[in-house]
Formats: sequence, C-alpha cells, structure tokens
Amino acid sequence: MFSPLFILLLLWIVSVWVSVHLGNQKGHSLAGWLLGLFLGWIGVIIMAVISPSPEAQRRLLLTEGFACPFCQEPVRHGATVCPHCQRDLKTPS
Ligand SMILES: [Zn+2]
Repeated sequence: MFSPLFILLLLWIVSVWVSVHLGNQKGHSLAGWLLGLFLGWIGVIIMAVISPSPEAQRRLLLTEGFACPFCQEPVRHGATVCPHCQRDLKTPS
C-alpha cells in the first residue's frame, strides 16, 4: 500500500517533530531542530538525555510548584520553608 520510502519519510518527519518538541521543552529549540533534521531518532535520543537549560529547568519546576515570594525561586507545593533562601513560607506576606 505505502512504499518503504514513504514510510521512512514519515518516520523521519515524526523524529524531527519529537526532537523539536523535546528541544522546546528543555530550552534548546535550535539543537532540537538540528538533531532531529540530521540525526533522526538518534537526535531524539540525544535530546531525551540532554539536561534542560537553567531557564527551562526553572520553568519546569514552576509548573509543579510556585515562585517563592521572597527570592522568586521555584518551590514545590506544600513546602513550608524555601529551599533557596530558607525563609518561612507558612505565613506569606
Ligand atoms: Zn525563597
């Protein structure tokens, strides 16, 4: 039904999409594009194991918590003391 070339092309397009998605999530969008375009699924594996940029790390932490009212660093929900500035979070000002 589909030619093998068409299936390979489809798999490659999917690998570029996954690599770009991972790159955007980890704050390396250009690397996501390049790795996906030139390395395909190997690029996806590299993007999966690469560590996120500090800014992306902060964004990821903020999705599962909130910003400390004193130092603006990400803190997990339910924390009573900020792990960054050690201030008490039980009575927010
Ligand atoms: Zn703090």
